[in-house]
Amino acid sequence: MEPDMLSPFEKLTDLMTNLEEFDLPAIYDILGQLCKTLRVSKGVTTFYADAEHERKGDGEPFVCYDSGEKHFLIASRRLVSPTGMIITCDVFQAEGAQPLTEPERKKVDIIQRMMLTCLNRPRQEKIIERLMYYDNDGYKNIRLFYSRIGRLLAQGGLAGWTGARIDLKHFSAVNEQAGKENGDIVLRNYGKMLEKAMGKEGIVCRLGGDNFVLLFSTEKLGAVTEILHGASVRYGEEPEQEAEISAFAGVCSFTEGDRIPNPGGVMERIIPPYQIAKRDNHPDIIFYDQSFLQEKKHAAKVQRKFNKALENENIVVYYQPKVDIQSRKIVGAEALCRWIWKGDIIPPMEFIPILERGNDICRLDFYMLDHVCKDIRRWLDEGKQPVRISVNLSRMHMSDKKLFEHIVSIIDANHVPRGLIEIELTETTTDVEFRDLKRVVGQLQEAEIATSVDDFGVGYSSLNLIKQIPWDVLKLDKSILPSDAEEERGNHMFAHVIAMAHEIGLICVAEGVETEEQLEIMRNYGCRIAQGFLFDRPMPVADFEKKLEEKQAVTVLEGLADEADHGSLFTQ
Ligand code: C2E
Ligand code: MG
Ligand code: MG
Repeated sequence: MEPDMLSPFEKLTDLMTNLEEFDLPAIYDILGQLCKTLRVSKGVTTFYADAEHERKGDGEPFVCYDSGEKHFLIASRRLVSPTGMIITCDVFQAEGAQPLTEPERKKVDIIQRMMLTCLNRPRQEKIIERLMYYDNDGYKNIRLFYSRIGRLLAQGGLAGWTGARIDLKHFSAVNEQAGKENGDIVLRNYGKMLEKAMGKEGIVCRLGGDNFVLLFSTEKLGAVTEILHGASVRYGEEPEQEAEISAFAGVCSFTEGDRIPNPGGVMERIIPPYQIAKRDNHPDIIFYDQSFLQEKKHAAKVQRKFNKALENENIVVYYQPKVDIQSRKIVGAEALCRWIWKGDIIPPMEFIPILERGNDICRLDFYMLDHVCKDIRRWLDEGKQPVRISVNLSRMHMSDKKLFEHIVSIIDANHVPRGLIEIELTETTTDVEFRDLKRVVGQLQEAEIATSVDDFGVGYSSLNLIKQIPWDVLKLDKSILPSDAEEERGNHMFAHVIAMAHEIGLICVAEGVETEEQLEIMRNYGCRIAQGFLFDRPMPVADFEKKLEEKQAVTVLEGLADEADHGSLFTQ
Protein backbone atom coordinates (compact mmCIF):
# COMPACT_ATOMS: atom_id res chain seq x y z
CA MET A 1 0.00 0.00 0.00
CA GLU A 2 1.30 3.43 -0.87
CA PRO A 3 2.14 5.67 2.14
CA ASP A 4 -0.39 8.43 1.23
CA MET A 5 -3.16 5.77 1.12
CA LEU A 6 -2.27 4.36 4.49
CA SER A 7 -3.26 7.21 6.65
CA PRO A 8 -6.88 7.83 5.44
CA PHE A 9 -7.42 4.06 5.42
CA GLU A 10 -6.11 3.70 8.95
CA LYS A 11 -8.14 6.69 10.05
CA LEU A 12 -11.27 5.19 8.54
CA THR A 13 -10.65 1.90 10.35
CA ASP A 14 -10.14 3.73 13.62
CA LEU A 15 -13.32 5.77 13.22
CA MET A 16 -15.41 2.81 12.24
CA THR A 17 -14.24 0.59 15.05
CA ASN A 18 -14.61 3.23 17.77
CA LEU A 19 -17.36 1.75 19.92
CA GLU A 20 -17.61 4.74 22.24
CA GLU A 21 -18.52 7.27 19.62
CA PHE A 22 -19.66 6.87 16.05
CA ASP A 23 -18.51 10.05 14.30
CA LEU A 24 -20.47 9.90 11.06
CA PRO A 25 -19.43 13.32 9.60
CA ALA A 26 -15.72 12.43 10.08
CA ILE A 27 -16.32 9.04 8.43
CA TYR A 28 -18.00 10.70 5.45
CA ASP A 29 -15.13 13.14 5.17
CA ILE A 30 -12.52 10.37 4.93
CA LEU A 31 -14.69 8.33 2.58
CA GLY A 32 -14.88 11.38 0.31
CA GLN A 33 -11.08 11.63 0.26
CA LEU A 34 -10.72 7.90 -0.47
CA CYS A 35 -13.31 8.02 -3.26
CA LYS A 36 -11.42 10.81 -4.97
CA THR A 37 -8.10 8.94 -4.72
CA LEU A 38 -9.68 5.75 -6.00
CA ARG A 39 -11.50 7.55 -8.87
CA VAL A 40 -14.86 6.60 -7.45
CA SER A 41 -17.54 9.17 -8.40
CA LYS A 42 -20.33 8.10 -6.04
CA GLY A 43 -20.83 5.79 -3.04
CA VAL A 44 -24.31 4.97 -1.73
CA THR A 45 -25.33 2.88 1.27
CA THR A 46 -29.00 1.91 1.33
CA PHE A 47 -31.01 0.43 4.22
CA TYR A 48 -34.03 -1.75 3.54
CA ALA A 49 -36.30 -2.80 6.41
CA ASP A 50 -36.60 -6.30 4.86
CA ALA A 51 -36.40 -8.22 1.56
CA GLU A 52 -39.85 -7.04 0.53
CA HIS A 53 -38.79 -3.41 0.83
CA GLU A 54 -35.62 -4.18 -1.14
CA ARG A 55 -37.68 -5.80 -3.90
CA LYS A 56 -39.84 -2.70 -4.16
CA GLY A 57 -36.79 -0.44 -4.06
CA ASP A 58 -38.21 1.13 -0.92
CA GLY A 59 -35.02 1.90 1.01
CA GLU A 60 -33.35 4.72 2.87
CA PRO A 61 -30.17 5.81 1.04
CA PHE A 62 -27.08 7.44 2.55
CA VAL A 63 -24.86 9.03 -0.04
CA CYS A 64 -21.36 9.23 1.36
CA TYR A 65 -19.81 10.86 -1.69
CA ASP A 66 -21.12 12.15 -4.99
CA SER A 67 -18.99 14.04 -7.53
CA GLY A 68 -22.13 14.82 -9.53
CA GLU A 69 -20.74 13.35 -12.71
CA LYS A 70 -22.59 10.92 -14.97
CA HIS A 71 -21.61 7.49 -13.71
CA PHE A 72 -22.05 3.75 -13.96
CA LEU A 73 -22.05 1.00 -11.31
CA ILE A 74 -18.72 -0.77 -10.83
CA ALA A 75 -19.21 -2.73 -7.56
CA SER A 76 -22.14 -3.75 -5.38
CA ARG A 77 -22.15 -5.47 -1.94
CA ARG A 78 -25.07 -6.65 0.15
CA LEU A 79 -25.47 -7.58 3.85
CA VAL A 80 -28.45 -9.17 5.58
CA SER A 81 -28.50 -8.32 9.29
CA PRO A 82 -29.65 -10.85 11.94
CA THR A 83 -32.96 -8.99 12.19
CA GLY A 84 -33.63 -9.36 8.45
CA MET A 85 -32.71 -5.80 7.58
CA ILE A 86 -30.77 -5.49 4.29
CA ILE A 87 -27.98 -3.02 3.62
CA THR A 88 -26.40 -2.51 0.21
CA CYS A 89 -23.33 -0.53 -0.73
CA ASP A 90 -22.98 0.57 -4.36
CA VAL A 91 -19.93 2.19 -5.88
CA PHE A 92 -19.88 4.13 -9.19
CA GLN A 93 -17.28 5.52 -11.59
CA ALA A 94 -17.74 8.49 -13.83
CA GLU A 95 -18.13 7.79 -17.53
CA GLY A 96 -14.76 7.96 -19.24
CA ALA A 97 -12.80 7.58 -15.98
CA GLN A 98 -9.76 5.34 -15.97
CA PRO A 99 -10.86 1.84 -14.84
CA LEU A 100 -9.67 0.62 -11.42
CA THR A 101 -6.57 -1.52 -11.19
CA GLU A 102 -6.87 -4.86 -9.39
CA PRO A 103 -5.25 -3.55 -6.14
CA GLU A 104 -7.61 -0.53 -6.29
CA ARG A 105 -10.65 -2.83 -6.71
CA LYS A 106 -9.54 -4.72 -3.59
CA LYS A 107 -9.32 -1.49 -1.61
CA VAL A 108 -12.82 -0.49 -2.76
CA ASP A 109 -14.07 -3.89 -1.71
CA ILE A 110 -12.57 -3.53 1.78
CA ILE A 111 -14.17 -0.09 2.16
CA GLN A 112 -17.55 -1.47 1.08
CA ARG A 113 -17.35 -4.30 3.63
CA MET A 114 -16.42 -1.84 6.36
CA MET A 115 -19.31 0.43 5.40
CA LEU A 116 -21.81 -2.39 5.58
CA THR A 117 -20.76 -3.81 8.90
CA CYS A 118 -20.09 -0.56 10.68
CA LEU A 119 -23.00 1.53 9.41
CA ASN A 120 -25.26 -1.34 10.36
CA ARG A 121 -24.56 -0.71 14.03
CA PRO A 122 -25.99 2.81 14.57
CA ARG A 123 -28.88 1.88 12.31
CA GLN A 124 -29.63 -1.19 14.38
CA GLU A 125 -29.34 0.87 17.51
CA LYS A 126 -31.84 3.34 16.10
CA ILE A 127 -34.31 0.59 15.27
CA ILE A 128 -33.89 -1.02 18.66
CA GLU A 129 -34.34 2.36 20.26
CA ARG A 130 -37.56 2.90 18.32
CA LEU A 131 -38.89 -0.48 19.34
CA MET A 132 -37.73 -0.13 22.92
CA TYR A 133 -38.52 3.45 23.63
CA TYR A 134 -41.62 4.27 21.64
CA ASP A 135 -45.10 2.84 21.91
CA ASN A 136 -47.30 1.76 19.01
CA ASP A 137 -48.65 5.26 18.55
CA GLY A 138 -45.17 6.72 18.31
CA TYR A 139 -45.09 8.24 21.81
CA LYS A 140 -41.96 7.93 23.90
CA ASN A 141 -42.57 5.36 26.63
CA ILE A 142 -41.65 4.71 30.26
CA ARG A 143 -38.50 2.78 29.31
CA LEU A 144 -37.10 5.90 27.71
CA PHE A 145 -37.96 7.82 30.87
CA TYR A 146 -36.09 5.25 32.98
CA SER A 147 -33.19 5.07 30.56
CA ARG A 148 -32.77 8.85 30.53
CA ILE A 149 -32.86 9.00 34.32
CA GLY A 150 -30.35 6.13 34.52
CA ARG A 151 -28.00 8.06 32.27
CA LEU A 152 -28.36 11.25 34.32
CA LEU A 153 -27.75 9.33 37.53
CA ALA A 154 -24.63 7.78 36.03
CA GLN A 155 -23.46 11.23 34.99
CA GLY A 156 -23.69 12.63 38.50
CA GLY A 157 -27.34 12.98 39.55
CA LEU A 158 -30.58 14.75 38.92
CA ALA A 159 -29.86 18.15 40.44
CA GLY A 160 -31.37 20.78 38.15
CA TRP A 161 -33.94 18.35 36.73
CA THR A 162 -37.66 18.10 37.37
CA GLY A 163 -39.84 15.01 37.04
CA ALA A 164 -43.62 14.97 36.84
CA ARG A 165 -46.44 12.42 36.65
CA ILE A 166 -49.50 13.84 34.92
CA ASP A 167 -53.01 12.80 33.96
CA LEU A 168 -55.11 15.02 31.72
CA LYS A 169 -58.33 16.21 33.33
CA HIS A 170 -61.63 15.04 31.86
CA PHE A 171 -59.97 13.88 28.66
CA SER A 172 -62.78 11.42 28.00
CA ALA A 173 -65.05 14.45 27.58
CA VAL A 174 -62.79 15.67 24.74
CA ASN A 175 -63.03 12.25 23.08
CA GLU A 176 -66.80 12.30 23.46
CA GLN A 177 -67.27 15.82 22.15
CA ALA A 178 -64.66 15.96 19.39
CA GLY A 179 -64.48 12.26 18.50
CA LYS A 180 -61.73 9.74 19.21
CA GLU A 181 -59.64 10.74 16.18
CA ASN A 182 -59.63 14.41 17.11
CA GLY A 183 -58.97 13.37 20.70
CA ASP A 184 -55.79 11.68 19.47
CA ILE A 185 -54.76 14.88 17.68
CA VAL A 186 -55.38 16.91 20.83
CA LEU A 187 -53.32 14.47 22.88
CA ARG A 188 -50.44 14.62 20.43
CA ASN A 189 -50.53 18.40 20.16
CA TYR A 190 -50.65 18.82 23.92
CA GLY A 191 -47.57 16.57 24.19
CA LYS A 192 -45.82 18.68 21.54
CA MET A 193 -46.71 21.85 23.44
CA LEU A 194 -45.15 20.41 26.58
CA GLU A 195 -42.09 19.28 24.66
CA LYS A 196 -41.66 22.73 23.17
CA ALA A 197 -41.92 24.32 26.62
CA MET A 198 -39.34 21.88 27.97
CA GLY A 199 -36.71 22.62 25.36
CA LYS A 200 -34.52 20.07 23.57
CA GLU A 201 -33.54 18.15 26.69
CA GLY A 202 -37.05 17.54 27.99
CA ILE A 203 -39.04 14.39 27.34
CA VAL A 204 -42.74 13.54 27.50
CA CYS A 205 -43.27 9.79 27.93
CA ARG A 206 -46.65 8.13 27.75
CA LEU A 207 -47.72 5.59 30.34
CA GLY A 208 -50.94 4.79 28.50
CA GLY A 209 -54.14 6.66 27.69
CA ASP A 210 -53.82 10.27 28.80
CA ASN A 211 -51.20 9.50 31.44
CA PHE A 212 -47.65 10.78 31.03
CA VAL A 213 -44.38 11.26 32.86
CA LEU A 214 -42.17 14.24 32.14
CA LEU A 215 -38.50 14.96 32.69
CA PHE A 216 -37.08 18.40 32.00
CA SER A 217 -34.66 21.03 33.14
CA THR A 218 -35.96 22.82 36.25
CA GLU A 219 -35.33 26.10 34.42
CA LYS A 220 -38.39 25.30 32.30
CA LEU A 221 -40.66 24.62 35.27
CA GLY A 222 -42.62 27.87 34.91
CA ALA A 223 -43.37 27.30 31.24
CA VAL A 224 -44.37 23.67 31.85
CA THR A 225 -46.68 24.34 34.80
CA GLU A 226 -48.40 27.07 32.82
CA ILE A 227 -49.41 24.45 30.24
CA LEU A 228 -50.38 21.95 32.94
CA HIS A 229 -52.68 24.55 34.49
CA GLY A 230 -54.48 24.88 31.17
CA ALA A 231 -53.81 25.36 27.47
CA SER A 232 -55.94 25.65 24.35
CA VAL A 233 -55.13 22.85 21.95
CA ARG A 234 -56.26 22.94 18.33
CA TYR A 235 -57.40 19.91 16.35
CA GLY A 236 -58.46 21.62 13.14
CA GLU A 237 -58.68 24.90 11.28
CA GLU A 238 -62.24 25.81 12.30
CA PRO A 239 -62.48 28.26 15.21
CA GLU A 240 -64.41 25.78 17.36
CA GLN A 241 -61.91 22.97 16.77
CA GLU A 242 -60.10 23.69 19.97
CA ALA A 243 -60.05 21.99 23.37
CA GLU A 244 -59.03 23.42 26.72
CA ILE A 245 -56.71 20.91 28.37
CA SER A 246 -55.31 20.89 31.89
CA ALA A 247 -53.77 18.20 34.02
CA PHE A 248 -53.45 16.72 37.48
CA ALA A 249 -49.76 16.57 38.30
CA GLY A 250 -47.32 15.41 40.95
CA VAL A 251 -44.03 17.24 40.49
CA CYS A 252 -40.59 16.96 42.04
CA SER A 253 -37.64 19.28 41.35
CA PHE A 254 -34.40 17.58 42.34
CA THR A 255 -31.57 19.37 44.11
CA GLU A 256 -27.96 18.55 45.06
CA GLY A 257 -28.86 16.94 48.38
CA ASP A 258 -31.38 14.47 46.89
CA ARG A 259 -30.32 10.86 47.06
CA ILE A 260 -32.09 9.03 44.28
CA PRO A 261 -30.65 5.52 43.98
CA ASN A 262 -32.39 4.49 40.77
CA PRO A 263 -35.11 5.55 38.31
CA GLY A 264 -37.75 4.01 40.63
CA GLY A 265 -36.72 6.63 43.19
CA VAL A 266 -38.03 9.31 40.84
CA MET A 267 -41.41 7.56 40.69
CA GLU A 268 -41.53 7.48 44.49
CA ARG A 269 -41.25 11.26 44.43
CA ILE A 270 -43.79 12.06 41.77
CA ILE A 271 -46.53 9.47 42.35
CA PRO A 272 -47.55 10.35 45.96
CA PRO A 273 -48.10 14.07 45.19
CA TYR A 274 -49.88 13.05 41.96
CA GLN A 275 -52.26 10.81 43.92
CA ILE A 276 -53.10 13.67 46.24
CA ALA A 277 -53.56 16.09 43.32
CA LYS A 278 -56.20 13.72 41.95
CA ARG A 279 -58.27 13.81 45.11
CA ASP A 280 -61.20 16.16 45.51
CA ASN A 281 -60.59 19.50 47.15
CA HIS A 282 -56.85 19.47 46.47
CA PRO A 283 -54.81 21.63 44.10
CA ASP A 284 -54.36 20.11 40.63
CA ILE A 285 -50.58 20.40 40.77
CA ILE A 286 -48.77 19.25 43.88
CA PHE A 287 -45.04 19.41 44.53
CA TYR A 288 -43.10 16.81 46.46
CA ASP A 289 -41.64 18.14 49.71
CA GLN A 290 -40.39 16.90 53.08
CA SER A 291 -43.93 16.26 54.32
CA PHE A 292 -44.19 13.35 51.84
CA LEU A 293 -41.18 11.70 53.37
CA GLN A 294 -42.70 12.04 56.81
CA GLU A 295 -46.01 10.78 55.49
CA LYS A 296 -44.30 7.70 54.09
CA LYS A 297 -42.71 6.95 57.46
CA HIS A 298 -46.01 7.61 59.22
CA ALA A 299 -47.91 5.29 56.85
CA ALA A 300 -45.39 2.50 57.36
CA LYS A 301 -45.72 2.93 61.13
CA VAL A 302 -49.54 2.87 61.03
CA GLN A 303 -49.55 -0.31 58.96
CA ARG A 304 -47.02 -1.93 61.29
CA LYS A 305 -48.89 -1.04 64.49
CA PHE A 306 -52.45 -1.66 63.31
CA ASN A 307 -52.67 -5.39 64.09
CA LYS A 308 -51.47 -4.92 67.67
CA ALA A 309 -53.83 -1.98 68.11
CA LEU A 310 -56.82 -4.18 67.24
CA GLU A 311 -55.57 -7.04 69.40
CA ASN A 312 -55.03 -4.77 72.40
CA GLU A 313 -58.30 -2.91 71.79
CA ASN A 314 -56.44 0.38 71.44
CA ILE A 315 -58.98 1.36 68.83
CA VAL A 316 -62.15 2.44 70.55
CA VAL A 317 -65.66 3.51 69.60
CA TYR A 318 -66.71 7.11 70.15
CA TYR A 319 -70.37 8.00 69.80
CA GLN A 320 -71.73 11.24 68.41
CA PRO A 321 -75.43 11.78 69.10
CA LYS A 322 -77.97 12.61 66.41
CA VAL A 323 -80.48 15.04 67.82
CA ASP A 324 -84.07 15.90 67.00
CA ILE A 325 -83.83 19.67 66.68
CA GLN A 326 -87.34 20.30 67.98
CA SER A 327 -87.17 18.34 71.19
CA ARG A 328 -83.35 18.41 71.46
CA LYS A 329 -83.52 14.72 72.38
CA ILE A 330 -81.08 12.08 71.17
CA VAL A 331 -82.61 9.91 68.49
CA GLY A 332 -79.57 8.00 67.32
CA ALA A 333 -75.78 8.14 67.18
CA GLU A 334 -72.89 7.57 64.84
CA ALA A 335 -70.01 5.30 65.86
CA LEU A 336 -66.64 6.89 65.05
CA CYS A 337 -63.32 5.23 65.68
CA ARG A 338 -60.45 6.67 67.70
CA TRP A 339 -56.99 5.16 68.08
CA ILE A 340 -55.54 5.54 71.55
CA TRP A 341 -51.80 5.76 70.92
CA LYS A 342 -49.49 6.35 73.89
CA GLY A 343 -52.22 8.24 75.70
CA ASP A 344 -53.08 10.44 72.68
CA ILE A 345 -56.37 10.19 70.82
CA ILE A 346 -55.69 9.87 67.12
CA PRO A 347 -58.59 10.95 64.86
CA PRO A 348 -59.61 8.61 62.01
CA MET A 349 -58.51 10.86 59.19
CA GLU A 350 -54.90 10.29 60.29
CA PHE A 351 -55.03 6.55 59.78
CA ILE A 352 -58.11 5.57 57.76
CA PRO A 353 -56.74 6.80 54.40
CA ILE A 354 -53.65 4.66 55.08
CA LEU A 355 -55.69 1.59 56.02
CA GLU A 356 -57.73 2.14 52.86
CA ARG A 357 -54.64 1.49 50.74
CA GLY A 358 -54.97 -2.16 51.68
CA ASN A 359 -57.50 -4.48 53.21
CA ASP A 360 -56.95 -3.35 56.81
CA ILE A 361 -59.85 -0.90 56.58
CA CYS A 362 -62.31 -3.79 56.22
CA ARG A 363 -60.99 -5.42 59.39
CA LEU A 364 -61.35 -2.11 61.20
CA ASP A 365 -64.96 -1.66 60.07
CA PHE A 366 -65.99 -5.17 61.15
CA TYR A 367 -64.19 -4.63 64.46
CA MET A 368 -66.17 -1.40 64.93
CA LEU A 369 -69.47 -3.06 64.06
CA ASP A 370 -68.71 -5.88 66.49
CA HIS A 371 -67.87 -3.46 69.31
CA VAL A 372 -70.99 -1.38 68.64
CA CYS A 373 -73.10 -4.55 68.77
CA LYS A 374 -71.49 -5.53 72.05
CA ASP A 375 -72.30 -2.10 73.55
CA ILE A 376 -75.93 -2.30 72.37
CA ARG A 377 -76.24 -5.83 73.75
CA ARG A 378 -74.91 -4.64 77.10
CA TRP A 379 -77.36 -1.69 77.16
CA LEU A 380 -80.20 -4.09 76.46
CA ASP A 381 -79.00 -6.50 79.15
CA GLU A 382 -78.75 -3.65 81.65
CA GLY A 383 -82.31 -2.63 80.81
CA LYS A 384 -81.27 0.61 79.11
CA GLN A 385 -83.15 1.87 76.13
CA PRO A 386 -80.73 1.95 73.19
CA VAL A 387 -80.88 4.16 70.10
CA ARG A 388 -80.05 3.14 66.56
CA ILE A 389 -76.30 3.34 65.99
CA SER A 390 -74.82 3.97 62.59
CA VAL A 391 -71.52 2.39 61.63
CA ASN A 392 -69.31 3.59 58.76
CA LEU A 393 -68.28 1.16 56.06
CA SER A 394 -65.52 2.09 53.65
CA ARG A 395 -66.24 1.79 49.95
CA MET A 396 -63.31 -0.62 49.86
CA HIS A 397 -65.82 -3.28 50.97
CA MET A 398 -67.78 -3.04 47.77
CA SER A 399 -65.85 -5.70 45.93
CA ASP A 400 -66.45 -8.16 48.82
CA LYS A 401 -69.16 -10.49 47.56
CA LYS A 402 -69.79 -11.75 51.11
CA LEU A 403 -70.16 -8.29 52.64
CA PHE A 404 -73.86 -8.63 53.45
CA GLU A 405 -73.44 -12.07 55.06
CA HIS A 406 -70.55 -10.74 57.11
CA ILE A 407 -72.54 -7.77 58.44
CA VAL A 408 -75.52 -9.92 59.34
CA SER A 409 -73.39 -12.57 61.02
CA ILE A 410 -71.77 -9.98 63.31
CA ILE A 411 -75.15 -8.45 64.30
CA ASP A 412 -76.80 -11.83 64.82
CA ALA A 413 -73.86 -13.32 66.71
CA ASN A 414 -74.23 -10.51 69.28
CA HIS A 415 -78.01 -11.06 69.49
CA VAL A 416 -78.74 -7.46 68.58
CA PRO A 417 -82.07 -6.56 66.95
CA ARG A 418 -81.20 -5.65 63.37
CA GLY A 419 -83.28 -2.49 63.56
CA LEU A 420 -80.76 -1.00 65.99
CA ILE A 421 -78.00 -0.93 63.40
CA GLU A 422 -77.62 1.47 60.50
CA ILE A 423 -74.87 1.13 57.90
CA GLU A 424 -73.36 4.35 56.48
CA LEU A 425 -71.96 4.11 52.99
CA THR A 426 -70.55 6.77 50.69
CA GLU A 427 -71.07 7.34 47.00
CA THR A 428 -69.23 5.29 44.47
CA THR A 429 -66.90 6.36 41.71
CA THR A 430 -67.37 3.62 39.14
CA ASP A 431 -70.26 1.81 37.50
CA VAL A 432 -69.10 -1.51 38.90
CA GLU A 433 -69.04 -0.12 42.42
CA PHE A 434 -72.47 1.38 41.84
CA ARG A 435 -73.91 -2.04 40.96
CA ASP A 436 -72.30 -3.61 44.03
CA LEU A 437 -73.59 -0.79 46.22
CA LYS A 438 -77.10 -1.22 44.88
CA ARG A 439 -76.98 -4.96 45.55
CA VAL A 440 -75.65 -4.59 49.12
CA VAL A 441 -78.13 -1.86 50.09
CA GLY A 442 -80.97 -3.98 48.66
CA GLN A 443 -79.86 -7.01 50.67
CA LEU A 444 -79.57 -4.94 53.87
CA GLN A 445 -83.01 -3.46 53.34
CA GLU A 446 -84.52 -6.92 53.01
CA ALA A 447 -82.79 -7.93 56.22
CA GLU A 448 -84.27 -4.83 57.91
CA ILE A 449 -80.93 -3.22 58.49
CA ALA A 450 -81.11 0.52 57.80
CA THR A 451 -78.69 2.19 55.42
CA SER A 452 -77.59 5.77 54.90
CA VAL A 453 -75.76 7.73 52.22
CA ASP A 454 -72.92 9.44 54.06
CA ASP A 455 -71.46 12.82 53.07
CA PHE A 456 -74.11 13.55 50.48
CA GLY A 457 -73.23 16.69 48.56
CA VAL A 458 -69.50 16.19 48.19
CA GLY A 459 -67.46 14.17 45.75
CA TYR A 460 -69.41 12.15 43.31
CA SER A 461 -72.90 12.56 44.72
CA SER A 462 -75.48 12.19 42.07
CA LEU A 463 -79.23 12.19 42.17
CA ASN A 464 -79.14 8.79 40.51
CA LEU A 465 -77.51 7.44 43.61
CA ILE A 466 -80.47 8.35 45.76
CA LYS A 467 -83.13 7.59 43.18
CA GLN A 468 -81.94 4.14 42.21
CA ILE A 469 -80.86 2.76 45.58
CA PRO A 470 -83.32 2.08 48.40
CA TRP A 471 -81.64 4.06 51.19
CA ASP A 472 -83.33 4.90 54.49
CA VAL A 473 -81.35 7.98 55.45
CA LEU A 474 -79.63 10.83 53.62
CA LYS A 475 -76.75 12.34 55.58
CA LEU A 476 -76.08 15.80 54.25
CA ASP A 477 -72.46 16.80 54.33
CA LYS A 478 -71.63 19.94 56.26
CA SER A 479 -70.52 21.62 53.06
CA ILE A 480 -74.09 21.81 51.77
CA LEU A 481 -75.58 23.10 55.00
CA PRO A 482 -75.59 26.91 54.52
CA SER A 483 -74.13 28.88 57.38
CA ASP A 484 -76.09 31.99 56.58
CA ALA A 485 -79.79 32.43 55.79
CA GLU A 486 -78.86 35.16 53.30
CA GLU A 487 -76.75 32.82 51.20
CA GLU A 488 -79.26 32.50 48.38
CA ARG A 489 -77.82 29.77 46.18
CA GLY A 490 -76.86 27.55 49.12
CA ASN A 491 -80.27 27.89 50.77
CA HIS A 492 -82.01 27.19 47.53
CA MET A 493 -80.08 24.01 46.94
CA PHE A 494 -80.43 22.84 50.53
CA ALA A 495 -84.21 23.40 50.36
CA HIS A 496 -84.48 21.38 47.15
CA VAL A 497 -82.41 18.48 48.41
CA ILE A 498 -84.50 18.21 51.58
CA ALA A 499 -87.76 18.43 49.64
CA MET A 500 -86.69 15.79 47.15
CA ALA A 501 -85.39 13.47 49.87
CA HIS A 502 -88.66 13.70 51.78
CA GLU A 503 -90.61 13.10 48.61
CA ILE A 504 -88.91 9.77 48.08
CA GLY A 505 -89.27 8.84 51.75
CA LEU A 506 -85.76 9.46 53.03
CA ILE A 507 -84.93 10.69 56.51
CA CYS A 508 -82.52 13.65 56.38
CA VAL A 509 -79.69 14.13 58.85
CA ALA A 510 -77.57 17.30 58.66
CA GLU A 511 -73.95 16.71 59.62
CA GLY A 512 -71.57 19.29 61.08
CA VAL A 513 -74.20 21.55 62.64
CA GLU A 514 -72.23 24.12 64.60
CA THR A 515 -74.40 27.23 64.95
CA GLU A 516 -77.90 28.28 65.96
CA GLU A 517 -78.18 29.98 62.58
CA GLN A 518 -77.70 26.65 60.82
CA LEU A 519 -80.34 25.17 63.09
CA GLU A 520 -82.71 27.90 62.05
CA ILE A 521 -82.06 27.10 58.37
CA MET A 522 -82.76 23.42 59.08
CA ARG A 523 -86.03 24.35 60.73
CA ASN A 524 -87.00 26.54 57.79
CA TYR A 525 -86.61 23.71 55.32
CA GLY A 526 -87.91 20.86 57.46
CA CYS A 527 -84.65 18.98 58.14
CA ARG A 528 -85.29 17.54 61.58
CA ILE A 529 -82.18 15.67 62.67
CA ALA A 530 -78.82 17.25 63.41
CA GLN A 531 -75.44 15.81 64.20
CA GLY A 532 -72.83 18.34 65.14
CA PHE A 533 -70.68 20.14 67.66
CA LEU A 534 -73.55 22.50 68.51
CA PHE A 535 -75.04 19.59 70.44
CA ASP A 536 -72.23 17.14 71.12
CA ARG A 537 -68.79 16.14 69.99
CA PRO A 538 -68.07 12.43 69.53
CA MET A 539 -67.57 10.98 73.05
CA PRO A 540 -66.44 7.78 74.77
CA VAL A 541 -69.08 5.17 75.46
CA ALA A 542 -69.42 5.92 79.19
CA ASP A 543 -70.17 9.60 78.50
CA PHE A 544 -72.59 8.64 75.76
CA GLU A 545 -74.48 6.32 78.10
CA LYS A 546 -74.91 9.15 80.59
CA LYS A 547 -76.06 11.50 77.87
CA LEU A 548 -78.48 8.95 76.57
CA GLU A 549 -80.11 8.55 79.97
CA GLU A 550 -80.59 12.30 80.25
CA LYS A 551 -81.69 13.15 76.74
CA GLN A 552 -83.11 10.20 74.99
CA ALA A 553 -86.25 10.55 72.91
CA VAL A 554 -88.76 7.98 74.09
CA THR A 555 -90.20 7.31 70.70
CA VAL A 556 -86.92 6.91 68.92
CA LEU A 557 -87.47 3.81 66.91
CA GLU A 558 -91.15 4.30 66.21
CA GLY A 559 -90.33 7.89 65.29
CA LEU A 560 -87.78 6.86 62.72
CA ALA A 561 -90.29 4.62 61.07
CA ASP A 562 -92.99 7.28 61.24
CA GLU A 563 -90.95 9.93 59.50
CA ALA A 564 -90.59 7.97 56.36
CA ASP A 565 -94.30 7.21 56.30
CA HIS A 566 -95.82 10.51 57.34
CA GLY A 567 -93.08 13.07 57.10
CA SER A 568 -93.79 14.13 60.71
CA LEU A 569 -91.57 12.68 63.29
CA PHE A 570 -90.01 12.90 66.67
CA THR A 571 -92.84 15.02 68.00
CA GLN A 572 -92.95 14.46 71.70
P1 C2E B 1 -68.15 10.93 58.76
O1 C2E B 1 -68.67 9.55 58.70
O2 C2E B 1 -68.77 11.93 57.85
O3 C2E B 1 -68.29 11.39 60.26
C1 C2E B 1 -68.59 12.68 60.65
C2 C2E B 1 -67.36 13.45 60.95
O4 C2E B 1 -67.70 14.80 61.16
C3 C2E B 1 -66.68 12.99 62.25
O5 C2E B 1 -65.28 13.19 62.11
C4 C2E B 1 -67.22 14.00 63.23
O6 C2E B 1 -66.39 14.16 64.37
C5 C2E B 1 -67.21 15.24 62.38
N1 C2E B 1 -68.13 16.22 62.92
C6 C2E B 1 -69.29 16.01 63.57
N2 C2E B 1 -69.89 17.17 63.89
C7 C2E B 1 -69.10 18.15 63.42
C8 C2E B 1 -69.18 19.58 63.44
O7 C2E B 1 -70.10 20.18 63.95
N3 C2E B 1 -68.19 20.26 62.82
C9 C2E B 1 -67.14 19.64 62.25
N4 C2E B 1 -66.21 20.39 61.69
N5 C2E B 1 -67.02 18.29 62.21
C10 C2E B 1 -68.00 17.56 62.79
P2 C2E B 1 -64.25 12.08 62.55
O8 C2E B 1 -64.71 11.35 63.75
O9 C2E B 1 -62.93 12.73 62.56
O10 C2E B 1 -64.34 11.06 61.36
C11 C2E B 1 -63.95 11.45 60.10
C12 C2E B 1 -64.33 10.43 59.10
O11 C2E B 1 -63.61 9.22 59.30
C13 C2E B 1 -65.79 10.00 59.15
O12 C2E B 1 -66.56 10.95 58.48
C14 C2E B 1 -65.74 8.70 58.43
O13 C2E B 1 -65.73 8.90 57.05
C15 C2E B 1 -64.40 8.16 58.84
N6 C2E B 1 -64.58 7.17 59.91
C16 C2E B 1 -64.67 7.33 61.23
N7 C2E B 1 -64.81 6.14 61.83
C17 C2E B 1 -64.80 5.19 60.86
C18 C2E B 1 -64.89 3.76 60.84
O14 C2E B 1 -65.04 3.07 61.86
N8 C2E B 1 -64.82 3.15 59.62
C19 C2E B 1 -64.69 3.88 58.48
N9 C2E B 1 -64.64 3.20 57.33
N10 C2E B 1 -64.62 5.20 58.48
C20 C2E B 1 -64.67 5.86 59.64
MG1 MG C 1 -70.29 8.70 58.66
MG1 MG D 1 -70.36 12.12 57.01
